[in-house]
Amino acid sequence: MTIYFDMDGVLCDFEHRCDELDCWKPDIHKCNWKKMEEIGHSFWADMNPIQHGLDLINQVAKLGYDVGIFSAVHLDCGKQGKREWLQKYLPNIPKKNIIIVRNGNMKHKFAVKDSILIDDKPEKVANYKMVGEKAILYTDELSLNDILDVIGQ
Ligand SMILES: [Mg+2]
Repeated sequence: MTIYFDMDGVLCDFEHRCDELDCWKPDIHKCNWKKMEEIGHSFWADMNPIQHGLDLINQVAKLGYDVGIFSAVHLDCGKQGKREWLQKYLPNIPKKNIIIVRNGNMKHKFAVKDSILIDDKPEKVANYKMVGEKAILYTDELSLNDILDVIGQ
């Protein structure tokens, strides 16, 4: 079994990076992808970590479970930046366990057999469960025991 962690909103603070570099579209809560692409890979590579999420993935790995990353970004520079971020903060994750798809809404279509997805978006959690795998909604209250409970089910 592999326990996959989402990146944005779980391990790294994507929204804060958008605030910091003013990458929101005016009036609506949507990212300005064009501006992010102009900034390039450093937009992603220099995101702040979310300490609670990082602690959880490290604790799960320390217990000997196979951990991985399940993330999404459609830009090539985004993919590169995310890999740089992982190299910096989670260098021990095996490369074969790093999945970065183009469309976050399609995560469940790439669901790995016998896996658990930990994600901060309720619809992604629901979709992942719908295809027969396990998923946990990430919040800042999520504990190691909550994850172990699901692993044990
Ligand atoms: Mg997310």
